[in-house]
Formats: sequence, C-alpha cells, structure tokens
Amino acid sequence: MDSRTLVIVGAGVVGCAIAAEAATLFSDVYLLESRPRPGMLTSTRNSGVLHSGIYYAHNSRKAFHCLRGNRWLREFCRRYNVPWRDTGKFVVAQDASQLAALEQLLQRGQHNDVPGLEIVDQAAVSRREPHIRAHAALWVPSAAIVNAESLIKTLLRLAQDRGAAFAPQTRLLAVETRRDRLHLHTSTGDFETDLLVNAAGLYADEVARMCGEERYTVYPVRGEYCHVHRRHLDWLRGLVYPLPTPLSLGIHLTRTVEDALLLGPTARYILSKEDYEQDLLPPEFFLAEGRHLLPDLQLDDLTLAYTGIRPKLIPEHGTHDHSSSPVPSGDFIVERDLRHRSVIHLLGIESPGLTACTSLAREVVELVVET
Ligand SMILES: Cc1cc2nc3c(=O)[nH]c(=O)nc-3n(C[C@H](O)[C@H](O)[C@H](O)COP(=O)(O)OP(=O)(O)OC[C@H]3O[C@@H](n4cnc5c(N)ncnc54)[C@H](O)[C@@H]3O)c2cc1C
Repeated sequence: MDSRTLVIVGAGVVGCAIAAEAATLFSDVYLLESRPRPGMLTSTRNSGVLHSGIYYAHNSRKAFHCLRGNRWLREFCRRYNVPWRDTGKFVVAQDASQLAALEQLLQRGQHNDVPGLEIVDQAAVSRREPHIRAHAALWVPSAAIVNAESLIKTLLRLAQDRGAAFAPQTRLLAVETRRDRLHLHTSTGDFETDLLVNAAGLYADEVARMCGEERYTVYPVRGEYCHVHRRHLDWLRGLVYPLPTPLSLGIHLTRTVEDALLLGPTARYILSKEDYEQDLLPPEFFLAEGRHLLPDLQLDDLTLAYTGIRPKLIPEHGTHDHSSSPVPSGDFIVERDLRHRSVIHLLGIESPGLTACTSLAREVVELVVET
C-alpha cells in the first residue's frame, strides 16, 4: 500500500470511481464533496446512457474512454448488481437528405472499432420501434442504459469498503503549497495532503485556479428534459436519437431503467453554473422536437422533468473544428498541474463522462501512482 495521502475533490460519478480505484492502492484516500450527498449535480442529471463511441474523433480521449468505459461498466453493473439494461440504440435519419450524415457516423464508429454497427431501413426500425418515424437508422447495439444514482452509490460504497473516507458538505476553498505538501483550506477545516485530484466537474476550472492553473474556463450548457406520460410506455423499447448537432447529441428519446420515458436534453449556453431553473423551455418546444421522432406525441403527454448542466470547454461562439468531430466540444482533459506535479486536473468531463467513469479513474490513478 502507498502511504501517501490522496485527496479527491468532487464526489460525482468520476470522483467516486477514482476513489474506488485509488483505495485499492493508497491507504489514505479522502473524497471531498461540497454537497450533502454524492452525485447531486451533473452525474444524476443526465440521460444515463452507456454510450458506444460513435461520435468522437479517432484517437481522442473521449473515444478511448467511452469504448473501454462501456465494456468495463457493463461488467461492473453485472458484478455489483447496478440496475442497467442492454438496449442498443437507433440514430435516425428523418429523410434522404440525412443519409450522408448517417453514413459518416457509421464510418467514424467503425474507425473507432465500435462493434456491430449497421445502417438499417425503415422496416427494420419499425420492427423494433413501431412508433418511431424514420427514413433509415444507424443501429448501435452496444449502447445501453444505467441507473446513474445506483452506480454512484455503489462506487462510493466500494471506495468506503476499501478504506476511503467520504467528507460531504466539505467545500475546497483554497490550496497552498508548503514545502512538498499541499495545504487545503476547506469549509470544515484545513488539512494537508501529498496528492490532489481535481474531479470538480462544472467547478473544475475554479479548483484549477486555486492551484494557479488559469488556462481553463468551464462554460455551462444547460440540458432540459421532459417526461412523456407513462400511458405511452409501449411507444419506446430503448433509445432513439436524431443526428447529433454541433453542440450535443440531439434531443432524443430514452426509456430509463425504471421505465420512465424521457425526451431531451436541449442544449443552451447559460450564464451561471447554478442556474437549473430560470427561463425553462415550454412543453410546446419539446412537442415540436419530439414529433420528428414520435409523430403521435400530443402536448398533454409532456411534463417538464429535470435539467442538467454540461461543463463545456468551448465558449458559445468559439472555434469549432468540424473536421475532427461531429460533436465539436473538445476532448476530455486529464493532466498534471504544470506547477504542482502532485495535482491532477480533469476538465471538460461532459458526455460520455458517465460511461467513461471507471476507465477515466484508471488513467487518473495510473498518473497519481507515477507521481
Ligand atoms: C444533460 C446531460 C446529459 C448527459 N448524458 C450523458 C449520458 O447519457 N451518458 C454519459 O456517459 N454521460 C452523459 N452526460 C455527461 C455526464 O453526466 C458527466 O460527464 C459526468 O456526470 C461528470 O461527472 P463528474 O464526476 O466529472 O462531475 P459532477 O457530477 O459535476 O461532480 C463534480 C462534483 O464536484 C463537487 N465539487 C465542485 N467543486 C467543489 C469544491 N470546491 N469542493 C468540493 N466539492 C466540489 C460538486 O458538488 C459535484 O458533486 C450528460 C451530461 C448532461 C449535462
């Protein structure tokens, strides 16, 4: 066992996964969380999809961790009884003009070694999802769905069983270097550590700045969801996506592990990382979007559900490199602090961060061990 002290900031799904992995090698692991419970922010305000890896630039961290994370999380869920479902998904072309984009997605996915991809016709979509309107679709068999809350609880329990300490309602406020150690000021007191991992999600740029790393800004991009009424449970078996937009994977249909039907998320830059509620889009907006996929949808089938906020590293009108990714949101950043070798930052852990959590945790812990 490594006897150095390791502090992880942020008990989202990524911080919990890092704690569970690190506690197998380090005897003193502390997980700090500013909120009362783990995973109260982005990690439980998402679609809960185990992504397959079709969207991301070849050789990107997102592609690598999505593919490895998908395999590892399936295994993890089986082993620890986390509720999940092997659904597969359709990415739908609504008319012939979208076929070229579908083909591009297929090629990107194949280049990334995503298994089992095929473009299928309208009849094949109807056999599986008879209520969905589609001209054709990309069938992605390795996409699945997981209960994110249960996954986070399981990761945290595992970390604690392996000896990690969880400190809820403990906000990191400042970091100072004293000799070789890091002095942490928190809302519940001060303490010292040898090693620090910044897994603070939306606030990772602020934690990085506490260490003197000024280069990054996290831009909040809100995603809103609607529920489709349970009387229409038979409208959807699994996951149905439109083609991705430059900002997101598109407003899609999800049947959750608990058999709720979700429509969303939208994607909109907002000014505050705390703004989950103001100026929500009306059900009419979701109706118009949802009818592209589900023509039978009616306004009284929809109720506003929850919102989540993506930690984007690219500003609203920033430069997008369309050649390298159809979702030009930048890659995950996992790097050692330039001034303090003992600090590792994770930034821009947007989708597919849930899928990637155990795989990202392995990369982070390998870096920490090398310190
Ligand atoms: C709308 C939406 C849909 C998505 N859908 C999917 C999906 O289907 N599949 C998928 O794979 N991914 C999806 N994602 C992405 C996924 O949810 C995230 O990548 C993942 O949850 C990131 O986890 P995290 O632990 O890095 O961040 P977070 O969950 O944000 O956790 C960070 C934690 O750090 C804490 N913290 C912050 N600052 C401090 C501080 N100073 N001191 C102490 N604690 C602090 C916060 O309170 C928080 O709990 C989606 C995201 C959104 C917004």
